[in-house]
Amino acid sequence: MQTILTSGPVSNRLNIVVLSEGYTSSQLAQFAVDATNAVNALLSHPPYQEYRNYFNAFAIKVASAQPGSDHPSSGIYRDTYFNSTYDPVADYLITIPADSTGQGKVDALLQSRMPNCQLPILLVNDPNQGGSDGFDRTAIASTAVLFSEMPPLPPGILTHETGHVLANLGDEYTIPYPGFPDTEEPNTTQQTNRSLLKWKAWVSTNTPIPTPETVGEGVVGLFEGAHYHETGWYRPELNCAMGNLGAEFCSVCSEALVLAIYQRVRPVDAFSPASTSFSVSSTQALTFSLSLLQPTSHNLDVQWFTNGVAWTGATHLGLTLSPEALFNGTNWISARVNDLTSLVRNDPANLLSQIVTWTVDVTLPQLRLDSPLRLTGGKFAFRVSGNAAQGFVIQSSTNLLDWAPLETNYLVAGQFWHTNFAAGPSSRMFYRAATLP
Ligand SMILES: [Zn+2]
Repeated sequence: MQTILTSGPVSNRLNIVVLSEGYTSSQLAQFAVDATNAVNALLSHPPYQEYRNYFNAFAIKVASAQPGSDHPSSGIYRDTYFNSTYDPVADYLITIPADSTGQGKVDALLQSRMPNCQLPILLVNDPNQGGSDGFDRTAIASTAVLFSEMPPLPPGILTHETGHVLANLGDEYTIPYPGFPDTEEPNTTQQTNRSLLKWKAWVSTNTPIPTPETVGEGVVGLFEGAHYHETGWYRPELNCAMGNLGAEFCSVCSEALVLAIYQRVRPVDAFSPASTSFSVSSTQALTFSLSLLQPTSHNLDVQWFTNGVAWTGATHLGLTLSPEALFNGTNWISARVNDLTSLVRNDPANLLSQIVTWTVDVTLPQLRLDSPLRLTGGKFAFRVSGNAAQGFVIQSSTNLLDWAPLETNYLVAGQFWHTNFAAGPSSRMFYRAATLP
């Protein structure tokens, strides 16, 4: 296994693994180059481009006895590791056996080398354009992708197949496919009621439903023809990578892909303090910080909260505050991270948001004077309570400006009784207690 792209820990990245099919052992060096080009081509297309930092990519090199792939329509058969074959009728559809001679080998390699793989790509060393979604689990594409969808060219078969694997997107093709299951995908529907349309957040009120093709490209509506039907099934835009090779993903497919990325990768990579529950008993400032995954051309939105209240201006990656700004007792410090990308309008599961909360138990020195008692002979007593680990001093004043120390001591079981020994010089005295540092 070889690393192609590292942007962070495999535990919090969408890990792509490219596997070699139809490369002989002497061609494996070329496979490493091809795999790198395939990943770069894929991640150059929106919305992947914007979330490139959310991906790692690796290549697993396995040799085949012979180069290429089967082309039954031309009577060509090759001995290859994953037993791939082009379709006997549609010589652009590449599949591998579902059993242990095909997909089972993909699964076994991933299990042993990269169990955290979320996007396997089988790169078939064949110059004929072709691919498939490998049972919605493995994006299969021939090396023709290296000529057909490298930037600045638009997406091709590889990018299209990843839409199936990552976001369960449906084909927006209109060519008939008798027997194809009538299951709706995020980007295909039979629904024609505007208010029930699953992508209604993208449809402006003045767009007709269904939408005539004359409206043109870049408008989200309800275009007839999708899911292998010319009529009765609808797609969101006139053109999309899920329907026309050479088009970018439409807004609805793009949204589904961003949600799919956030299903697998969380925006907060790490945070400090690493422990989300701790105690403080001194006034030393507390520092909290986040390490975030950032999209390519916009920053994630951050807001800090203390006990549920947003701090104005606390929108950076770190927050420093004094424990004196908190209450004695249990406090909650939270950071809410949001991706406010315009690529997503509908996020019912709140995938684009993450909240980190620290529970902070504060026991700051705090004193209280109470229970005043008059005693005989001009004496009196009062109680000092609270917490003062380093001790306290009792002071008196006649004018609240000048304070004189009377007694230094420690609390016992949280309290201390002070008794004066002589009446003060004035008929009116103020008393206070202060913790010692
Ligand atoms: Zn689409």
